Amino acid sequence: MSDLKELKKIEKFSDQCMKCGFCSFFCPVYQEEKMEPSVARGKNYLIKQVLQGKQEFTEEMGDIIGKCLLCKRCAANCPSKTQIDRVVVGARAQMVKDKGLGFIKNFAFRKVMANKKAFGRYVKLAKAFQWMLPKTEGKIRHLPDFIKALGAGRNIPALAPVFFHDQMKPLYKTQDGQKPKMRVGFFMGCATDFIYPDLGFKLIDFLTKRGVEVVVPEDQNCCGAAIYFSGDLETGRILADKNIKAFKDLNVDYIVTACGTCSSTLKDYQKYLPDTEDQQKRYEEFEKKIKDSTEFVIDVMKVPLEDFKLRKEFEGKTATWHDPCHLVRYQNIKDQPRAILKALKGLKYVEMPNADLCCGMGGSFSVYHYDLTKKIAAKKMDGIKATGADIVVTACPGCMINLIDNVLQNKMTQKVYHFLELVE
Ligand code: SF4
Ligand code: SF4
Repeated sequence: MSDLKELKKIEKFSDQCMKCGFCSFFCPVYQEEKMEPSVARGKNYLIKQVLQGKQEFTEEMGDIIGKCLLCKRCAANCPSKTQIDRVVVGARAQMVKDKGLGFIKNFAFRKVMANKKAFGRYVKLAKAFQWMLPKTEGKIRHLPDFIKALGAGRNIPALAPVFFHDQMKPLYKTQDGQKPKMRVGFFMGCATDFIYPDLGFKLIDFLTKRGVEVVVPEDQNCCGAAIYFSGDLETGRILADKNIKAFKDLNVDYIVTACGTCSSTLKDYQKYLPDTEDQQKRYEEFEKKIKDSTEFVIDVMKVPLEDFKLRKEFEGKTATWHDPCHLVRYQNIKDQPRAILKALKGLKYVEMPNADLCCGMGGSFSVYHYDLTKKIAAKKMDGIKATGADIVVTACPGCMINLIDNVLQNKMTQKVYHFLELVE
């Protein structure tokens, strides 16, 4: 018999729901499926039934709880401010506690992703075989139908020829050789490390050019987003502790990352993971140091807007901004990137309708529900088309991967970039 420990932790959030159904207008999954279990109210109801001993955690219930992007559109628009993300993560944690992770997730999360060296070895192995996949366009690969687990017909980015951690230095001094104004740690994150290492070097170049010294600890790990959002809080805590330790004695003012999901995940260790008061305290301390690249350059460094210069290859282009859920709703970051894009001379900025609509990625959601991901992304694509923009700019490598896939699936001409790729 389950002790329902994880569910009891989130009961107070679940109690906030007054069943108004307002969330149904905002939930991307409900908008496609039009079924009550798809939306926050329905999920919350089922979880309450379990808490009251009226419902078992069946396999079907696991599927319902799994079918959530954790995009927080429901929470952001809920009159009761119900934190459905915490309810869903708590329910997933209870499922993991009662039923285990299953072979694939157990292997991926605990044996591979929880250990940076092992993770690097497995990704290198995958890189050795990626020549077998056809190239679709540039660095994008079109997954053949036989790789069903990743979604038939999906376009995925090629792994970088050399990973970030294999070419980085532990310390980057200021470029003018002067005493640094600030010293920051760089958190690379898996996508920057294995797919987009240039993003890491572009951020380091931007910072060191402007008097910030950057230190990159080698023993940092995956942020743990896919792991703890899937309910594996135990491995999430292992990664949190490893990352806190990696940056602990570096004497840095802040820890900066180029990935919106990583910055949000590192900040939110204190929300989703603590099991003890000591963990709560340590995760809260860690949160204070974390900054997303977009907020760091605007809010902390206070780089004057006229100091952002557009790279030559983007001159004359029209750009639009896609709000990653992990920036706009998890961190309330929306004005900073827009201010940068609007300030870039030579670039025309057009606001996208529904810019804050989830792209449909949702981490492992897109692996298990790829058809739904494509339907949700189709609305994002309509928004992009309506702008007439040549380029879509964002600040989360996860969104970039999904946007690129869907732009190609829809035979659109737009290119997708991280804001760091646009600026000098
Ligand atoms: S989660 Fe919020 S918006 Fe949805 S039914 Fe409950 S109170 Fe209403
Ligand atoms: S987090 Fe997003 S997908 Fe999940 S219930 Fe809320 S609106 Fe729907």
